Amino acid sequence: MGQFAVIGLGRFGSAASLELMKMGHSVLGVDTNGKVVDKLADQITHAVIADVTDREALEELGLDNYDVVLVAIGEDVQASLLCVVHLKSLAISTIWVKATSHAQHLILSKLGVARIIHPEEEMGIRVAQALSYPMVNDY
Ligand code: ATP
Repeated sequence: MGQFAVIGLGRFGSAASLELMKMGHSVLGVDTNGKVVDKLADQITHAVIADVTDREALEELGLDNYDVVLVAIGEDVQASLLCVVHLKSLAISTIWVKATSHAQHLILSKLGVARIIHPEEEMGIRVAQALSYPMVNDY
């Protein structure tokens, strides 16, 4: 069983959190929005309100015990990048980040992030594969 932290519980972050729970993993979800955190509180291992642009708040989450920290903040690129810089300075080893632009991708790759996710492109490829090979359609 893995231990994962998901930062940003929008559509992407909450779907990833719930799927990880279904697979039997432990999930800490973090968001600034109390409503979003309340909604997921009963469905994931821990749900916490915190602003991850605040280094101290991030440090208090004790993320060094987690296998992977997934940063799933979309719109606010500055918040996402600042969070990654803080995670790096806290020596978090494996960071995955949802990216929204080429510029963000470039910065994230310079920061040494383990995996940069482009949901639209990746989903487009999966849909093309599903259309081409309907017999191995997995969703
Ligand atoms: P999705 O497409 O997954 O719904 P999105 O790409 O529209 O998301 P946002 O809604 O901008 O992305 O961000 C996802 C979540 O991240 C939101 O619930 C938002 O409250 C949260 N978030 C944004 N900034 C911070 C922050 N500084 N600290 C913690 N959570 C944050």
